[in-house]
Amino acid sequence: MILFKQIEALKKHLAQISGSIGFVPTMGALHEGHLSLIEKSNSENDITVCSIFVNPLQFNNKEDLKKYPRTLPQDMTLLKEHNCDIVFAPNAEEIYKVDSDSVLDFNVGLLDTLFEGSLRPGHFKGVAIIVNKLFDIVKPKHAYFGLKDYQQCMLIDKLVTDLKLPVQLHFCPTLRESDGLAMSSRNARLSELARQSAPRIYECLNYAKANYRTKNITSIEEWCKSHLLEDALYTLEYFNIVNAETLMPIENSKEKAVALCAAFLDGVRLIDNLVLN
Ligand code: AMP
Repeated sequence: MILFKQIEALKKHLAQISGSIGFVPTMGALHEGHLSLIEKSNSENDITVCSIFVNPLQFNNKEDLKKYPRTLPQDMTLLKEHNCDIVFAPNAEEIYKVDSDSVLDFNVGLLDTLFEGSLRPGHFKGVAIIVNKLFDIVKPKHAYFGLKDYQQCMLIDKLVTDLKLPVQLHFCPTLRESDGLAMSSRNARLSELARQSAPRIYECLNYAKANYRTKNITSIEEWCKSHLLEDALYTLEYFNIVNAETLMPIENSKEKAVALCAAFLDGVRLIDNLVLN
């Protein structure tokens, strides 16, 4: 496994590779969810590249950016154990040293006004900019993203379609702890008490799935909101059941539906989702 911190050195190395390149962009603090993407890439490509970059542009909250875990040596060990070939871990100066960037004008569209988009102004634009930059550097044949970040998958799909980028996207299932908590780098910040409360989110998502056919949507959403809020450690941002492709309200029970949830658990922001049908 080779570590690169400089764009030009990585590009030079990749230019000599003739096989297919699979790419897994991450912000590090790796867990089994990330590693499942590495394994999928390994199984479908000759070379797997993993990037580790905590992208300041996608953090609307400076404190969140400061607190984001950075664990490069540990990440390197995990990636080596999982047969990753190349790690790209640049710093922000290296990534943003050229400031003229056409994708800065990328139109995130409606995604910016819904759920994560409305609660985290500038977040999706920041994600679009970095992913486009990384695709341009790595030039992967395949790229792997987790459905845990449901709206992010929609954004990347739009980016690749709108800019006609030559990469095949793979959106992969969410890996969970045994009690249902979606794996996330942020979970490490949960206190012991908060960790015990964390499965409530998945309980709500499962309740939504089990009752989607038979109960009305508002009553399901209300049950889920009260189930979370009866635990005083929770503050809710949203729990909604919406059309899985448009994120608009459901008008007909035959539409593909997704339950989306974001909540602060003892000050740690968690997001999760489940497709219901
Ligand atoms: P991040 O480091 O949070 O930017 O995540 C890097 C990639 O890993 C993104 O495509 C995430 O959606 C994906 N990911 C994060 N958590 C999980 C999980 N629990 N299961 C599967 N993929 C995940």
